[in-house]
Amino acid sequence: MNEQRNRPEWHPKNAGAEYASSVMPGSDNVKQVSNKVFKRRNPSINEFKEGISLGDTVLLSKAITLVESSNKEHQKTAQELLKEIFNLTGNSVRVGITGPPGAGKSTFIEALGMFLIKNNLKVAVLAVDPSSSLSKGSILGDKTRMQYLSNEKNAYIRPSPSSGTLGGVAKKTRETILLCEAAGYDVILIETIGVGQSEITVRSMVDFFMLLLLPGSGDELQGIKKGVVEIADALVINKADGNYKTKAKITQREYLNALQLLQPATEGWKTDVRTCSALENVGISDIWSMINKFLDETKNSGVFDKRRNDQMLHWVNSMLEENIKSLFFENETIASNLPEYYKKVLSGNITPAIAVEELLGMFYNQQKP
Ligand code: GDP
Repeated sequence: MNEQRNRPEWHPKNAGAEYASSVMPGSDNVKQVSNKVFKRRNPSINEFKEGISLGDTVLLSKAITLVESSNKEHQKTAQELLKEIFNLTGNSVRVGITGPPGAGKSTFIEALGMFLIKNNLKVAVLAVDPSSSLSKGSILGDKTRMQYLSNEKNAYIRPSPSSGTLGGVAKKTRETILLCEAAGYDVILIETIGVGQSEITVRSMVDFFMLLLLPGSGDELQGIKKGVVEIADALVINKADGNYKTKAKITQREYLNALQLLQPATEGWKTDVRTCSALENVGISDIWSMINKFLDETKNSGVFDKRRNDQMLHWVNSMLEENIKSLFFENETIASNLPEYYKKVLSGNITPAIAVEELLGMFYNQQKP
């Protein structure tokens, strides 16, 4: 009863969407699914689907591991499963959070996550960190960063998949979003570290994108590129507490002024600048209200659906680009001829355009049956 009253308007259960998750993880029903399934080594697609839709986090984690695996069989199973659960997806609010190291991202995510859980929402926290294979999980690898949230049964925290390329990490994260949605998570928070390209990638998979900043310094000083400010729907000046309170207000005004010169990231939405203290839990509920206002407005105007559709097609295109690129460069004939072509170009025997034409011709001939 209470849950219904506290549910925000956009909530999938209000919309009458097909939502199988009537059981929370940790309940007896869910344990039953896991126990039954784990008597066998490989759950079937149906067992995965049933367990995930009931909110079974063990099966959810296992499915995400399949999505992250480079093994061909695992990939095949993952794709079949994604197809099966597709009608259970799309119902969450996807929020991206970026900011320089030390801005307080994990403290903020924990504060927001705990607030959402208190409001009867299930929260999944994912990360996009293409460097995590080198640094062995630099963000979210260490669960103690969100010690309260990680102990909540309605929170699910998954570190960044470790993979060399941003494209690879992005694909896995997009598929993980879908699995979490099928498992009934209402809000998906996606953290990224500020390394330029990864913010743009996360922007391309979320509804609302937020930049967390420190009080008292301009973006140059915080190592944030102007481009990142331009793709944000909100700038949040964190640590607005103690001695930093006044500084945070000044920073807020500075950014509000600066934003007047920029195009908003989302059509019809004026990029907002807020202050908060994640540590003292001040301003967190206001930020959630702002996100809800954004959702109401963009859903009414059609911008929300248009963005989701554009993102889906962008996903197809970026995967096509990645695959075509690796097909080309990993082709044996191309790989063996490329050094010779580089030499010819550098010595002026051939122009770059002709080199490309000949190499593509070679590749094309290889593809003929
Ligand atoms: P991240 O690197 O962006 O994830 O930042 P963390 O969440 O790890 O926070 C970095 C440091 O800032 C930690 O020592 C936090 O306790 C501190 N911190 C985070 N949020 C706040 C805040 O709202 N106020 C104050 N005073 N400190 C904070």
